[in-house]
Amino acid sequence: MERTVCDCQKCRSFCRRPGYCVPDDVPAIAEYLGMSEADLRKNYLTAGRGITFARYYTLGLRRGQQAEPALYHVSTIVPKAYNGWCTFFDTRTGHCQIHPVAPFACRMFDDHISPEEFETRRQAGLRLILEDGTHARPLPNPTMPT
Ligand code: SF4
Repeated sequence: MERTVCDCQKCRSFCRRPGYCVPDDVPAIAEYLGMSEADLRKNYLTAGRGITFARYYTLGLRRGQQAEPALYHVSTIVPKAYNGWCTFFDTRTGHCQIHPVAPFACRMFDDHISPEEFETRRQAGLRLILEDGTHARPLPNPTMPT
């Protein structure tokens, strides 16, 4: 999967809401900036809104019965924001200061991808986060089978 390359004004405005990292992003950004991961986390990263997703369980369903979605939430980390912009956004040049190692959600999405491509990329990011051993937290769901 290739990174997106659009640099239009609309895509740049995404830098007001910094994109989430997948696990490999943190060491890559730390190395790029020549700092420890601990310092990077402490000074430049923070908790994001996380990703909510649905899983459909079909085990034990009778014929004709529809699977009900169970909702889960995984935590994400994102660059901190200052004065309405990502901490890595250079407001003088209008460019990302960590472009070669920008977080997954920054490098894989832009304003012009189709809904299908968006979903493919969203799933890929989610898989990378879950594969790292991050435990998904179940959310209360009134439609969840008991
Ligand atoms: S890391 Fe770079 S691309 Fe991502 S929001 Fe910050 S400045 Fe923009």
